[in-house]
This record gives sequence, structure tokens and C-alpha cells, in this order.
Amino acid sequence: MSADCQTPPKLRLAGIVNDSITDGPGIRLTVFVQGCPHHCPGCHNPQTWAFDGGEETSPDEIMAQIKKNPLLSGVTFSGGEPLAQAAALLPLAQQIKQQGLELAIYTGYTFEQLLQMNDPSINRLLALTDTLIDGPFIQAQRNLELNFRGSENQRVLQAAASLAAGQPIPENAERWH
Ligand code: SF4
Repeated sequence: MSADCQTPPKLRLAGIVNDSITDGPGIRLTVFVQGCPHHCPGCHNPQTWAFDGGEETSPDEIMAQIKKNPLLSGVTFSGGEPLAQAAALLPLAQQIKQQGLELAIYTGYTFEQLLQMNDPSINRLLALTDTLIDGPFIQAQRNLELNFRGSENQRVLQAAASLAAGQPIPENAERWH
């Protein structure tokens, strides 16, 4: 069976914030996925690490919440590690883009690590994504003055364009900096 005709796996969520102003520019709905393999020292969300925690949900349930808020400029996938659930997030990402909203993803992987994985679901998700904030949180590089990032090593990248180019392309839109 091809990946396209399989039912996507259920999405495990840690929670949703309806009106975040800290996970990207504008007012955003942030989807915190459950499960993270990175275990960064100093992580603010260690309750999201366990892959068997949180609750299962469907893209339609999240989409219904998104549609209730006409003020949203975008949606952000955070965690947890969103790209550990790339296949489950794909149908939601498709609906978000159909709705005309920006999509940003926070990942503890570097863009180069994601490229090396060459995972079809991750690549398809990145192709739908406007902005990728990559890299683990590194406490020694923590900087409270950074917009939308916790530590200096993390980069704000154009996701789909970086994937297409096979190299990281910085997000140059002023609103991200
Ligand atoms: S990647 Fe994010 S959620 Fe995962 S341990 Fe690091 S800071 Fe925490």
C-alpha cells in the first residue's frame, strides 16, 4: 500500500493555545504536540517529552478551533517535537494552507538533520510550511532578547524554500526579527 492511501496516524497533543503572541508574528493558534526525543536541559515544556502522554485528537477538531478565530494570522506547531509526528500533522497542515493561513514549525532538529533523514512525511510537511525555527534549546546560548527563539543557535528559516534549495535559507521578513 502506498503512503497516500493509508489512514494518517492519530495526532497526540499536549495542548493548544488559541491566541499566542509568542510563537511567531501576529496572533497565532499554537498546537503543542506530545512527545520529544531531544530532552534539552532547561526545556520549558518537559511535560511534553513522554510519547505516551497527552491526548489523541484529529485534524478536524483542531481545524474547527482555528476557524472559530477570524483574527488568526497563522498557526504554529510546537512541542514536543512536531516532526516526530509529521505524518499525523500533514492533513492538518494541508487544511491550514487551504485556509490561507501562515504555518510555522518549531523543531529541535537542525534543518540539515531533517534533510539527511529524507523522510517522505517530513519533506511533505516542510513543503507546506512557511517558516521553520530549527535546532535544540541550548541553555548556554539562551538569550531573552531574541524574538520567537530561546537560544542563539536556533535559526528562523524559510521552510519550503530551504527544502527546495537543499540548504538553509534565512527568513528575511522583518516581522520575524
Ligand atoms: S526540542 Fe523543545 S520541547 Fe523538546 S526538549 Fe528541546 S526545548 Fe523541550
